[in-house]
Amino acid sequence: MQTVRLDELHVDEVGGVEGASGYLTIDLAALSRNYQALAAKAAPGRAAAVVKADAYGLGAERVAKTVYENGCRHFFVAQFVEAARLRPALPQDAHVFVLNGLQPGNEDICAYENIIPVINSIEQWKNWARTARKLGRRLPAAVQFDTGMSRLGLPPEERRLLAEEIALGSDVEILFLMSHLASADDDESIQNWEQLEELRKIAFEFPGHELSFANSGGLFLGKPYRIGLARPGIALYGGAPSALPSPMDAVVRLDVAVVQTRTVPAGTKIGYGGVHVASRETRLATIAAGYADGLPRSLSDRGAVYFDGVRLPIVGRVSMDSITIDISALPEGAIRLGSLVEVIGPNRTLEDVAREAGTISYEILTGLGHRYHRQYR
Ligand SMILES: *Cc1c(COP(=O)(O)O)cnc(C)c1O
Repeated sequence: MQTVRLDELHVDEVGGVEGASGYLTIDLAALSRNYQALAAKAAPGRAAAVVKADAYGLGAERVAKTVYENGCRHFFVAQFVEAARLRPALPQDAHVFVLNGLQPGNEDICAYENIIPVINSIEQWKNWARTARKLGRRLPAAVQFDTGMSRLGLPPEERRLLAEEIALGSDVEILFLMSHLASADDDESIQNWEQLEELRKIAFEFPGHELSFANSGGLFLGKPYRIGLARPGIALYGGAPSALPSPMDAVVRLDVAVVQTRTVPAGTKIGYGGVHVASRETRLATIAAGYADGLPRSLSDRGAVYFDGVRLPIVGRVSMDSITIDISALPEGAIRLGSLVEVIGPNRTLEDVAREAGTISYEILTGLGHRYHRQYR
């Protein structure tokens, strides 16, 4: 018998590892098709890629390199540390933006590492302009405006101050005037139109700059929203940009291993709290993923996994490391120790899981965790 050395079990490598508790498969060809489809939708503008939170949990470096090969040159992360990790992985002609802005103390390193801040306040603008003066060169930035979300970006009352700063002469080079939609997944929301109107005013106040507005949902709101540089995130990863079923190709598949099976008589309690009681003789399987692997506890006694296209309901509470499923619908012996069940895949989409869990696809994706064997196809 051959022994496997622990250091040979790389959890992040391409290819299969036998005996993993779960397999998270990321389809880079589907990602490429999604990027191309979104870039075509953004035309004549361009499409960036939002790769914050490790590309929604799928691996920022792999994702960014893949979309770069498809022509993407603009990348958005949320935090400086994410940019610092991603920047060396991409060619110099890639632009890496930090959505959360410019934190005091990061100015010099942003300048040296060619990381582009999204300037969210007049204070950040001044700090960046001071750094440019000190270094004696022009420094690039995107400037974000709050058009009605009250989260990030210059509030309306700071616009006049910005205009004064620019009029005085500044070494900050504005690459994009940017804003973000609060209700882009709802094409009936009046807020979309209000924000677009506000952005038009801003473009009029600060003429001559390219705009960046639409996220995934924005790209599907119609032509007026497809301006300048679009910033899709979730749609790249196969998630639905609106309330309709996702028009994008699925990128993620999750298969989880069965670690035990058993048959219990009617009246048996199943899982923590004994909240589920078998109403008849039931065949059960326990699978090796739980809320610590991003399958929320709100899936307790809700939702299902699939095997050979057969629906297998989740029974009892979701544990930290396991979930129990009812496999009575399958022929005896169909599922055994080590069998893999489909948790996310063709039968049960990311959106299905999110809906059953009472959340959104973004939260499911970013929560999937690091105990699965990741394989890129
Ligand atoms: C996260 C984010 C995006 C991407 O949004 P999706 O809905 O995932 O397409 C775009 N812009 C900003 C400012 C963001 O924070």
